[in-house]
Amino acid sequence: MNILLAASEVVPFSKTGGLADVCGALPGELARLGHRPAVIVPAHRDSSCCGAIIEPMGIDFIVPIGSKTVTGHLLQSTLPGTKVPVYFVQQDHYFDREGLYQADGKDYIDNCERFVFFSRAVLEAIRLLDLQVDVIHANDWQTGLVPAYLQIEYRGIPRYERIASLFTIHNLAYQGRFWHWDMLLTGLDWKYFNWHQMEFHGHLNLLKTGIVFADSINTVSPRYAQEIQSAALGCGLEGTLQHRSDVLSGILNGMDTVHWNPATDSNLAARYNVDTVGQYKPTCKAALQKELGLPTRPNVPLIGLIGRLCDQKGIDLVAKVIQRWVGEEDAQWAILGTGDQKYHDLLGDLAGRFPQKVAARLEFSGELAHRIEAGCDMFLMPSRYEPCGLNQMYSLAYGTVPVVRATGGLADTITDADDQALEAGTANGFSFSEYSELALAETLRRACDVYRKKKVVWNKLIDTGMRQDWSWARSAREYVKLYAKTIARRKEAVLT
Ligand code: ADP
Repeated sequence: MNILLAASEVVPFSKTGGLADVCGALPGELARLGHRPAVIVPAHRDSSCCGAIIEPMGIDFIVPIGSKTVTGHLLQSTLPGTKVPVYFVQQDHYFDREGLYQADGKDYIDNCERFVFFSRAVLEAIRLLDLQVDVIHANDWQTGLVPAYLQIEYRGIPRYERIASLFTIHNLAYQGRFWHWDMLLTGLDWKYFNWHQMEFHGHLNLLKTGIVFADSINTVSPRYAQEIQSAALGCGLEGTLQHRSDVLSGILNGMDTVHWNPATDSNLAARYNVDTVGQYKPTCKAALQKELGLPTRPNVPLIGLIGRLCDQKGIDLVAKVIQRWVGEEDAQWAILGTGDQKYHDLLGDLAGRFPQKVAARLEFSGELAHRIEAGCDMFLMPSRYEPCGLNQMYSLAYGTVPVVRATGGLADTITDADDQALEAGTANGFSFSEYSELALAETLRRACDVYRKKKVVWNKLIDTGMRQDWSWARSAREYVKLYAKTIARRKEAVLT
């Protein structure tokens, strides 16, 4: 299969979030499975900082943007460690900027124009580079116009007739909403500006556009694909998504098993695998307690949390439970994160008042993240919503038992240690449903009880988690099936 993956950011060339990780990892795995992927991405400032050589191709093109035309250039490189071609759309006025989407916390006012340009460039590149493409895989609002242009403007052209489109939603909360006059920039007829297609409460909505025009849609976990069709997590697009539920599915992201491997991780005080975890994890725990200034106590449950400190991640519940627990429960907390000031204040205050029990590092540290994953006994993720989540996968790989709210990717990866799952040998963590302090506290207490009183059960949870496969190879096989389905769907549409 020939797959063209279009995205606004791709590791290692550019990154603000998980989208870049997916787009950097998936193509290599697809190539390993014998397919022919290529990637197309804007040439953001610093794209070449990763050390890759990016070469001009001598190909210029012009696309219409509203009433003007704008010139762009194509550059090329490969994804490091692979032969996968990466094409860069260079347009310095749009993309040679400090941040990818914003500066000083404010979105660029011409974001719609920038990604109208990029989306048109993706379709033009196919012709200019003479690419064989069976399916275009577009991602998030920045490329939401790609399926629309393909459907509305390019279908009449023979080489585009059979190209199928898949649109992946990485986080429904980011929709690319713009004022209605930006519709003029797209060059598409106003007839598409209606609430069934590109309009959303009077605004142009590029995520909705992608959802409406793509042949298939997916999200980054099966549970999230279900949840976004409900009013609670649909961010206003639940109706649109319900309407397309026959072509909507979910595929869990994979994790980077090279970078996150306790057997080779140079950040750790000791390295271990599934057979030696019992022997060496205590060394990692003691080293972490020492590093964080917590008393070095081997038998006290050490609970970890890493991430963006924001409402999505359930930090309000965590702060409430810590507040209650510092008085009555014997547990230690290792927290690493940055985010909203209110959470910095809350957690900083708790760590200051209870240094024997709470350590909070309010910063970004890749190395410490690895040591927390290895040194803790449990890892907490009580998210309000979680499209996929990576930290719970890292925890499983590091023999650290996840305690999670059963939402999105957390529900798809963590099997609660209830009697039935324990008997079946499928349990790998603890989970709860209701978003409440009480539910979180009860579940943590349940986990602490098993940790203290049922060592055999605890070790079995660790063993089950460490033996599971959350690699990109598994996700890529799912994507291959979805591409095939999408191509078949398009073929059918062409024939009818
Ligand atoms: P999200 O993409 O919603 O932020 P994920 O769990 O999918 O959440 O991935 C977050 C990634 O960012 C993980 O690799 C996590 O370890 C990392 N991370 C987040 N905050 C920090 C931090 N303060 N220090 C180090 N790593 C962090």
